[in-house]
Formats: sequence, structure tokens, C-alpha cells
Amino acid sequence: VKRRTDLRMGFFDAAMSFAVTERMTLERSVKDALRSGQFELFYQPQVRLSDYALIGAEALIRWRHPELGIITPDKFIPVAEETGLIVPLGTWVLHQACDQLRRWNDLGLTGLRLGVNISGRQFREADLADIVADCIAESGVSPGDLDLELTESMLMTDGEGTLKLLRSLAKLGVTLSIDDFGTGYSSLAYLKRFPVDTVKIDRAFVRDLDQDEDGRVLVNAIISLAHSLSLKTIAEGVETESQASLLARHGCDEIQGYMIGRPMPVADFAEFAKSYCPR
Ligand code: C2E
Ligand code: CA
Ligand code: CA
Ligand code: CA
Repeated sequence: VKRRTDLRMGFFDAAMSFAVTERMTLERSVKDALRSGQFELFYQPQVRLSDYALIGAEALIRWRHPELGIITPDKFIPVAEETGLIVPLGTWVLHQACDQLRRWNDLGLTGLRLGVNISGRQFREADLADIVADCIAESGVSPGDLDLELTESMLMTDGEGTLKLLRSLAKLGVTLSIDDFGTGYSSLAYLKRFPVDTVKIDRAFVRDLDQDEDGRVLVNAIISLAHSLSLKTIAEGVETESQASLLARHGCDEIQGYMIGRPMPVADFAEFAKSYCPR
């Protein structure tokens, strides 16, 4: 019995040190990847529910690894967040997104709104308003075409500092969305206090729409609440026609999800936008 325990301990130690080594290797690779241009933004279309017009896209980061292929953000964003690498990475994302918006405008693809994900550390530590102002100035895009996606937990941390930052971002003319709405804090007081424009209804609620009456009640409540505060609503993770029509019936403004299109490389998105037909 003793021997078996030892063996198991040995295995556990090895697994632990493997995890640590793996994390350090990952940290170094993320740094190298940023330096050598292996990150790329994919774009997922967003449409208006009333007429299915294409109104924008969300920029979603991908790591195009020379050996491993496309790596999704769940594999490297947490490490980037822990190590602080998310700050330079997030700045890169903002510049890249604005440059892309500029290129679309130059090609005649105008009036598209581009959503960019902002991480907690980027929000707390970077001079976010200055960085966003630089991106807008350098690219010459209209600030109203840029939407910053923030999460509830970011807004709940420190009241005064948060409000100040949100106000300076809003003053730049960009819009602000609450991502993953409904999954974080249950306090809704901040919705009224902060200059946010849009609520992104989390995929979990959309998934429950088809399931039962409770799911529909919740989505209806979120949409009503948002509208009563003059906020727009966009539902994420819409995969089926039945979800879309339930959302339309509840007055949801916009949708995003596999039903319309998956996140895609920039060339594919341009193709998509060109051939897209509202129904
Ligand atoms: P998120 O902001 O909630 O993004 C939505 C995620 O849902 C995306 O995953 C998207 O591919 C996926 N999705 C979209 N439509 C559907 C659908 O119909 N069904 C299903 N099952 N999934 C759908 P992705 O691209 O893997 O991104 C995961 C998360 O990584 C994002 O969640 C976001 O929190 C983070 N992320 C992505 N890009 C960035 C970035 O540039 N900066 C930061 N800080 N975080 C990012
Ligand atoms: Ca998002
Ligand atoms: Ca605003
Ligand atoms: Ca989300």
C-alpha cells in the first residue's frame, strides 16, 4: 500500500511540474507570437433582428501557430491575463481592429460597427482612454463605429475610478457594451450609473430559450430592463431560427451567432459582407 501511494505522489509531482513548465513555456510563446505577428483577428457578423441587415462584427483573437494551427483564445487569454501580457496584446488588438475598420471604409464598406473585447487588466492597468484615442486618431475611423465590450465584473471593482474611465471613453465617442450580461453580478444598479449603450445577452440564456418557459421569462426580463434604461440589446450564441424568432418576439435588437456566421478570417468576412443578403 505504501508503495502505491508513493507512486501516485510521484506522478502527482511530475504532473504539477509539467503544468508549471507548460505555463512558463506558454508565457514565453505568447510574447514571441506577439513579436512575430502570429496573432490575428477573426470577425463574426452581427445583424439587426428587424430586417436582418448586417450592422457590425465582433473582433475575436486567434493565434495562428506555425505548427499547431489556429489556437482559440481560451487557451492563451487566461495566461496572458495572469502575466500581464494581455495589456500589450490588448493594445495590439485595438490598433488592429481600428486599422481594419479603416480598410473596410476605404473599400466602401461603411457604417459597420466593430466590437472589441477589453480584458479586466487592460481596463484597470492600461491608459485605456489614451490608447483608444491614439487608435482612433491614427486610423481616422469614426469613433462611433468602435464598440468596447466590457464585463460586469470589471465595472463592479472600484466605483469612482471606473466611472471616470467610462466617462472619458464615452467622451471619445465610442460606444460601450456589457459582455456576457447576466452571468456575473446580480446588482443591476451600475447599469443606470454608467454610460453604457448595449447589453450583450449571454449565450447561456439564449441556449435556454428553446428549453423551457423559465428561459424565455429571463430573456424577456433582461430585454425589458435594458430597454427601460434606453439600452440596446444584442443576443450572443444564436444558433437556430427558433431562437432568433423568440428573440425577435421579445424585442431583442440584434443577434450574433453561428446561425448568421462563425468568426472568420478577414478575407472571408469581406466575402461574407459582399454577398450577404438580408431576408
Ligand atoms: P466572448 O467575448 O463571449 O465571445 C463570444 C464567443 O462565443 C466566441 O468564442 C465565439 O466564437 C463564440 N460563439 C459565437 N457564436 C456562437 C454560437 O452560435 N454558438 C457557440 N457555441 N459559440 C459561439 P471565442 O472566439 O473562442 O472567444 C472566447 C472568449 O475569448 C471571448 O468570449 C472573449 O472573452 C475572449 N476573447 C476573444 N478575443 C479577445 C480579445 O481580443 N481580447 C480579449 N481580452 N479577450 C478576447
Ligand atoms: Ca465579447
Ligand atoms: Ca454612449
Ligand atoms: Ca460574450
